Amino acid sequence: MGCYAQTEMGHGSDIQSLETVADFDLAHDEFIMDSPTLTSSKMWPGDLGIFSTHAMVFAQLRIKGALHGVQAFLVPIRDMNTHELFPGVDAGDIGPKYGYATKDNGYLRLNKVRIPRENMLMKYAKVSKNGEFKIVGNEKVLYGIMLGVRLILACYSFRTLGLALTVAIRYGIRRSQFKNDNKQEIKILDYQLQQEKLFPLLAQYFAMCFASLKIKKMVEENMEKIKTNDFSNLNETHIALAGTKAYYTYTVFAGIEKCRLACGGHGFSHYSGIPAMHQEFAANCTLEGENSVMYLQVARYLLKMISKIQKGEPLPSTFEYLNSGTQLLQEQCSAKTTEEISSLDTLRKLLIVNVSYLIMKAGEILLQNVSEGATMREVWDKKIGIILLEAARAHVVFFTFKCFSDGLRKLQDENLRTIMTNLCVLYALHEILEKPLGIIESGYLLGEQIRLMQEVREKKYSEIRPHALGLVDANMISDNTLRSALGRYDGKVYETMLDWAQNHNSFNKAEGMEHILKMKDVTPQIFFQSKL
Ligand SMILES: Cc1cc2nc3c(=O)[nH]c(=O)nc-3n(C[C@H](O)[C@H](O)[C@H](O)COP(=O)(O)OP(=O)(O)OC[C@H]3O[C@@H](n4cnc5c(N)ncnc54)[C@H](O)[C@@H]3O)c2cc1C
Repeated sequence: MGCYAQTEMGHGSDIQSLETVADFDLAHDEFIMDSPTLTSSKMWPGDLGIFSTHAMVFAQLRIKGALHGVQAFLVPIRDMNTHELFPGVDAGDIGPKYGYATKDNGYLRLNKVRIPRENMLMKYAKVSKNGEFKIVGNEKVLYGIMLGVRLILACYSFRTLGLALTVAIRYGIRRSQFKNDNKQEIKILDYQLQQEKLFPLLAQYFAMCFASLKIKKMVEENMEKIKTNDFSNLNETHIALAGTKAYYTYTVFAGIEKCRLACGGHGFSHYSGIPAMHQEFAANCTLEGENSVMYLQVARYLLKMISKIQKGEPLPSTFEYLNSGTQLLQEQCSAKTTEEISSLDTLRKLLIVNVSYLIMKAGEILLQNVSEGATMREVWDKKIGIILLEAARAHVVFFTFKCFSDGLRKLQDENLRTIMTNLCVLYALHEILEKPLGIIESGYLLGEQIRLMQEVREKKYSEIRPHALGLVDANMISDNTLRSALGRYDGKVYETMLDWAQNHNSFNKAEGMEHILKMKDVTPQIFFQSKL
């Protein structure tokens, strides 16, 4: 059993500053693995705490005193037969966490532990017996395993949102509050405000679902190329995964919470199933690349794309749209009706303008400040972080929208295409109306056009409402998987809640209750004495 031991107590995102050292000992043809400082202690690797016998340790490679960057080393940490820790190894579980309770995230300290030279991963970076260091191919492949996990996060996160939406939408149809003019109780899902909470999430859910197909394809193509030592798709794929990992995990994380709120008081109960989803999912915004840090990598790449455009160089396919951004920024949106403003073509242009404006503005501020004497680093870290993140996010929104709108063309069933088109339009409208900075500041869109967009958004809610239940039920999530009284397929919300409280709540049957009950006689006395 193995674990991925990269993060240290002192550094996680900043991999280059990891402190664990792998010193090459020429005389014995071995590496000496060491944790020289408190902050070099490995912390967080999953499965390290209890289960792993081996750790893939990321450490600074040092040969004859010279550093050669962070490399990966396979370190046996526990005996395969006795499971005892090896001499020089200190490891264990890191303790309770917000969620992820079943995972033994661990700590690891290495005290001059020796491993053979062959235990370094040497496909793309090699150390010879005589201590010669050589890079073969592309070093970034070292983090290939992260691409794999990010792929899972980018392509499967939306499913958790699907679970939460299933609960909230089913419950919204079962739950009624207040009476209408005919003295009939209103289903909460019929309130416009409830639809405003849930339907944009439904649109985001399907948008991510469509985009995941494209992402998988990109990763497969990249892996095929790498097998033939062709690394030409590596950067584009890495950026696609970094961006979608950040945007999708946060969208799902925030979406689960919205679903909980949409279930009112009962949403707070574990019997709704939603709190557990939130706790289990939360870590995904942090692990495998903290989301803001991921967005900054996308932003850096976007700036490179702008520089390529200026030099007349070709762009990778998922960035080609930026070529039209410069032209669009010279124009103004011509839409005058709700139909025009919500056409897929208009929405596409609006999303392009948003990214183009934001990234060019960030570049402009960067150059301006540098020309006034500031360093690039200083401006990047202290002055343009927010706009960079917005630009990167806007790029992921465009990418996701494009995958969604391209996917619509492949739908054969006309009714299904109409429903999905409504969701695609709602997706874009929602994203634009939530984060319109670039489109407004650039002057591309006017106030009255924003009003038109809001009108369409509201219309889309009533068009989606009749299909909401079908859209979540289409996932065919079993009650067993959902583990929710509120989201039961048969709608028996109240019966189940009471049954679980009465018959499956161990707290009601806790031993020692008689001791607690006795306290009712003691409490006033203590209170009285302490007052004195
Ligand atoms: C449940 C869980 C499982 C994990 N599993 C593993 C594992 O198996 N193996 C492993 O090696 N690691 C693992 N990790 C560690 C994880 O990969 C790191 O915690 C993660 O990469 C974030 O790094 P950090 O903790 O250094 O965050 P930090 O980088 O310290 O982030 C803290 C804050 O600083 C901000 N920040 C940092 N740098 C910048 C910047 N340049 N600009 C702007 N803002 C910045 C971040 O946005 C964030 O808001 C796990 C973590 C968790 C929570």
